[in-house]
Amino acid sequence: MRVPAPTAQPSAAGSEARTPLLRAVDVSRSYGRGEAAFHALRGITLDIRAGESLAVVGRSGSGKSTLMHLLALLDRPTGGRVEIEGRDAASLRASELNLLRNKRFGFVFQQFFLTAGQSVLENVSLPLVIAGMPPKERDRRAMHALDSVGLADKARSRANDLSGGQKQRVVIARALVNEPSVIFADEPTGNLDTTTGAQVEQLLFDLHAQRGITLVVVTHDAALAARCDRAVTITDGRIADDPDAAGGRR
Ligand code: ADP
Ligand code: MG
Repeated sequence: MRVPAPTAQPSAAGSEARTPLLRAVDVSRSYGRGEAAFHALRGITLDIRAGESLAVVGRSGSGKSTLMHLLALLDRPTGGRVEIEGRDAASLRASELNLLRNKRFGFVFQQFFLTAGQSVLENVSLPLVIAGMPPKERDRRAMHALDSVGLADKARSRANDLSGGQKQRVVIARALVNEPSVIFADEPTGNLDTTTGAQVEQLLFDLHAQRGITLVVVTHDAALAARCDRAVTITDGRIADDPDAAGGRR
């Protein structure tokens, strides 16, 4: 299969540094066909730069999770394209996509649950199992990740025996165990009480600040959004106020 050259930049000099980590170009996503089609996203153009933190806000049903799935290369747009480091994701083979997701991305998504009956350590190790890492190294890395979320002492507990906040921290440990360059978090504090939510939030920001991990976070929480470098609001499948959006005010 042909691998296309990176999309041309306006100026070649230093274009490496300016090529965004991720770029959505006039992305749409419809569910169903014809008259019955539902247009969840209607032309989203958005750059995500390496190392930044971006909040995605908007009402329930506005298209935030749909956008996250597209940016995380878990779903394909029905129109437009998503680029990773200048390469059209549609041109990547399934094996390349799997590798990217496994090595470069961490997910804190509500539907990516922990396996209840397995130990905390096993749950955190999963991305490394998929990556084919030997057990000893796997356990060492998973323990390190658990330590960084303050849960090393729970490694042998069953995932189901933890509190909601602890579970969410385990999900974060699993998201960072492969040392990803970007973490996608979809309403990471949505099911938590205020205090626990604030701790989980702090943890995500510490990771972003200390390790330079790019953070893309969907949130209803205005305080969380305000802490990000940038926030975009999605309204009915469109970006309402991204100052960087093509065609937006500059
Ligand atoms: P948000 O995360 O902002 O709450 P979503 O991205 O989950 O919104 O959904 C946007 C819209 O697309 C909603 O109206 C939702 O019902 C619809 N939608 C999402 N996924 C599907 C699907 N698989 N099939 C049909 N409609 C869907
Ligand atoms: Mg959602």
